[in-house]
Amino acid sequence: MSQTILVLGAGTGGIITAKELSKKAGRDMKIILFEKEEKNVFAPSLLWLMVGKRKPQQVYGNTNKLAGAGIEVVIGEIENIDPENISVSVKDKESANGQTSYKGDYMVISLGVEQLVEHNLNNYGHDFYTLEGATSFNKKLQDFKGGKIAVLVPSLPFKCPAAPYEAAMLVESFIRNKGLSSKTEISLYTPEPGPMGVAGKELSGAVRQMVEMKGIKYFPEYQLTATSEKTLTFSNGKTTEYDLLAFTPKHQCPTAISKTDLIGKSGWIETNRNTMETQFPNVYAIGDITFIPLEMGKPLPKAGVFAHYQAETVAHNIAQKIYGKSDFKKFNGEGQCFLEMGNGKAGYAGGNFYGSPLPVVKMKEPGYFWHWTKVWFEKYWFFKYF
Ligand SMILES: Cc1cc2nc3c(=O)[nH]c(=O)nc-3n(C[C@H](O)[C@H](O)[C@H](O)COP(=O)(O)OP(=O)(O)OC[C@H]3O[C@@H](n4cnc5c(N)ncnc54)[C@H](O)[C@@H]3O)c2cc1C
Repeated sequence: MSQTILVLGAGTGGIITAKELSKKAGRDMKIILFEKEEKNVFAPSLLWLMVGKRKPQQVYGNTNKLAGAGIEVVIGEIENIDPENISVSVKDKESANGQTSYKGDYMVISLGVEQLVEHNLNNYGHDFYTLEGATSFNKKLQDFKGGKIAVLVPSLPFKCPAAPYEAAMLVESFIRNKGLSSKTEISLYTPEPGPMGVAGKELSGAVRQMVEMKGIKYFPEYQLTATSEKTLTFSNGKTTEYDLLAFTPKHQCPTAISKTDLIGKSGWIETNRNTMETQFPNVYAIGDITFIPLEMGKPLPKAGVFAHYQAETVAHNIAQKIYGKSDFKKFNGEGQCFLEMGNGKAGYAGGNFYGSPLPVVKMKEPGYFWHWTKVWFEKYWFFKYF
């Protein structure tokens, strides 16, 4: 009998889950992929958009194009999730009660993070974790004539631990190529003690060095407390001025989840770290919405690469269950990331984040190759899925 799999969220994790499932058993399954946004943004490209290396229409595809080969796409906001009965309801203006409900045999939750703006930062700067914010930042940067540029992380956690560092280095390249370096100061403020801390002291130190060697001023352990037209105030009593501001948003678990028993003490969904199954049988959660504690005391970072590998694991295991087989796979904590440095170069770090007692993550010599590998992945993503 045909089985129905509800895939919640068509971001990195949801797309890979749906496509892998359709490859494995398209004819024996009905896959329903839910997504609220019609524009499907490839987040890593937002960094290139910020500095004019991409146009807005080059960084997203149309969510409806994900349909086909056993995948039905439902565009709409999921309002309620019932993990016990494996069902969801989606906002629907046409329906009498304003909602349409869907029931499945399996559910994969990949709703990512809900992004909010604190301290009225939207009035003063640009949220570069959104299409609109990265676009508006780029407009201001193109007209920039010199002054103070601040890249700000106002709160933890944030997805893609490398992104603010990449943003600062790409902006520095842009400014240098425009001949504005002598008139410009670029600073990065964050509450973290150092960059990409989960990857270990050595790697964190190497990233800090990369940033500072470019002349970017780095301010770790700076927790924002207030913002005004030209000033940022921090909990250590320091204030700073800026002329152009790029910031990350506050991240929280999506409301549709926080209303359910799926939410754990961490404020996120806590799953089995190898199978990604929740406490509800046949209900899985993957990607940014999960909280996976590591032995070193911090959680697994929120990054697309983990959502991707977790999705492959979950899709494989659901297909095994449907066909009554037991050749199950495990997500083993492997992950890699590229670190854009500007002027066509990038670094690359990868390893095992489930390493005991510490993650084992190494950095390769930065160079042009890693930048072009990241560009190739972006092209591949759009070619393959949109
Ligand atoms: C600027 C930037 C650069 C990045 N660069 C990298 C990188 O180089 N490498 C890397 O590994 N990671 C990178 N990331 C992080 C990566 O994008 C995320 O970790 C990844 O997308 C997480 O996948 P996910 O499936 O968990 O969530 P998402 O990809 O965020 O997908 C969640 C989806 O669920 C949808 N959704 C949410 N709530 C609802 C609802 N109620 N109803 C319907 N739909 C809903 C959302 O619209 C979204 O499409 C970057 C992120 C940013 C912002």
